[in-house]
Amino acid sequence: MANPGAVGPAVFILDCDDTLLDNDALKDDLDTRLRALLGGPLVARFWQVYEAVRAETGAVDYPLTLARFRPALPNETTLAQIHALIMDYPFATCVYPGALDALAHLRAIAFPAIVSDGDSVYQPRKIARSGLAAAVDGHVLIYVHKEEHLDEVMARWPAPFYVMVDDKARILSATKQLHPDRFVTVHVRQGHYGRAPDRFPIAPDLTIARIADLRALDLADLRSHLAS
Ligand SMILES: [Mg+2]
Repeated sequence: MANPGAVGPAVFILDCDDTLLDNDALKDDLDTRLRALLGGPLVARFWQVYEAVRAETGAVDYPLTLARFRPALPNETTLAQIHALIMDYPFATCVYPGALDALAHLRAIAFPAIVSDGDSVYQPRKIARSGLAAAVDGHVLIYVHKEEHLDEVMARWPAPFYVMVDDKARILSATKQLHPDRFVTVHVRQGHYGRAPDRFPIAPDLTIARIADLRALDLADLRSHLAS
């Protein structure tokens, strides 16, 4: 099919947290490190502020959480230590086994990109420092709710079709509802969202247990899941 301007035969839109990077493990480890620094009561307060910010903005936002948490801290030194713990975390240690190989495979057969929900400071930093941005040649976009920006994503990277890979069945259902003839959805059953029971209107087209399993998917088979 003639498709002038297409960046590849398909664009894979990959999520970051709990899809390419084990964010549940990162959060658990961060909790342990914060406890050592602050003690239990202050850490409990920190996560309360984190959840309040998430409820208010619709996404995790560590910079805003830190700004709101600051008055609870005894001094600026402690604030600087927490800031360093969060922003300079060794993110590469949390990339799932096989994720980088899967991205290399996708680069060979199609065009992979990362589209992640999150804030505009911490989230791009995590994706860059984990090595994931380089593994998709810097093709990274961050939104608060990615399913509200699919037209922008398609305009940015024109292609015959798209494969949305995510641990959240809610996002996959919303995407398929909006563009059944353009998007194939792949549910990665990793992390606490990925393991939760599906309860959304449209089931994912395909399900894989681990991100490494992406390597086994075939473009022609994926394309067969588009609505005609
Ligand atoms: Mg996710």
